Amino acid sequence: MVRIEATPSLRIFRGSPVEGEIPAARPRGPGCGRTATECGDVAGTALLAMVLERVGESLVPRRLTMPAPSEGEVLLRVEACGVCRTDLHVVDGDLPEVRLPVIPGHECVGRVVAVGPGVDGVHVDERMGVPWLAGTCQRCDDCLAGAENLCGQATFTGYTRPGGFATHIVARAAYCVSLPEDADPVALAPLLCAGLIGWRALTRTGHARRLGLYGFGASAHIVAQIARAQQRDVYAFTRPGDIATQSFARALGACWAGGSNEPPPAPLDAAILFAPDGALVPLALRAVRKGGKVVCAGIHMSDIPSFPYRLLWGERELLSVANLTRDDARSFFATPATRAVHTRTRSYPLSAANDALADLRHGVFQGAAVLVPPRDEEACTWP
Ligand SMILES: [Zn+2]
Ligand SMILES: [Zn+2]
Repeated sequence: MVRIEATPSLRIFRGSPVEGEIPAARPRGPGCGRTATECGDVAGTALLAMVLERVGESLVPRRLTMPAPSEGEVLLRVEACGVCRTDLHVVDGDLPEVRLPVIPGHECVGRVVAVGPGVDGVHVDERMGVPWLAGTCQRCDDCLAGAENLCGQATFTGYTRPGGFATHIVARAAYCVSLPEDADPVALAPLLCAGLIGWRALTRTGHARRLGLYGFGASAHIVAQIARAQQRDVYAFTRPGDIATQSFARALGACWAGGSNEPPPAPLDAAILFAPDGALVPLALRAVRKGGKVVCAGIHMSDIPSFPYRLLWGERELLSVANLTRDDARSFFATPATRAVHTRTRSYPLSAANDALADLRHGVFQGAAVLVPPRDEEACTWP
């Protein structure tokens, strides 16, 4: 059992009414000396989270003092939080300036339990999603040009702000997404990044009919369904020999599935790269026709090897997608094709976040991993 008293104060809740350091809450659980009723009450006073304290190490279960929402913020009780490849990049230190400790997780579905001052039109118990983009300055050239996804002052959920690998999360209300009340929160969670980033990447391909998807994970399995609903032909590229994922792609409507080292049966109009492997860039350029587009959707990618200019020549375009805007979220959730998406998920209890990350890293499941926080009565046994 983790001895919380030995835990230094966690500088996690920047922006909460208590500036800076938040002391860890007192330990609870079996043998804590409290009655069941008292322990049940803990669920309302302590925030349970899986915390990244050192880059490259496992997340650590922690019991933290419940934050209160500041001006413009809401406090949500987390119903489910998806596990994204970007969480792996945070854990591995692939992204710059990770400010530790941090609670990862940016595919967060929750219900409002408290509303901070200055928040209008949000009511308690309303379901909202907390995506990657957590805040922007709205003053810089990028924000003023409608490209808030490029804002240099942007904050990000589960990276520069506490994320959703927790029982509760504080988020800026203006950056939350309204979500359907009647949907399964586990099924919704992957839409909040895998879906949104995939959607932004898909829009960058224009009207491409023959669409290649490199890396058929959480994002691609959502994009494939939307692309099929839009009458596009989907070509799925997986790790060479990954027959199971190729079958999964065909089951979702892909007209062709094969290894990333294989040429498609017809030249593609566009390709989206979800796998963080720079070696895929020249392969994808080789697979698209003249005038075609290759869109890199990941936040991090290994180095791109050199390739002959003729692969780019012919007015092929190589693009990247960075973050997302609130308009992306609004248009994504308003699209009828989105409501028809069936996400394939594998649920893990919040305390098994490290297992979920490891399984994602090793590609042991199809679709998306989703963490489910403990119910109130289970909170007592949190480590
Ligand atoms: Zn800005
Ligand atoms: Zn993500």
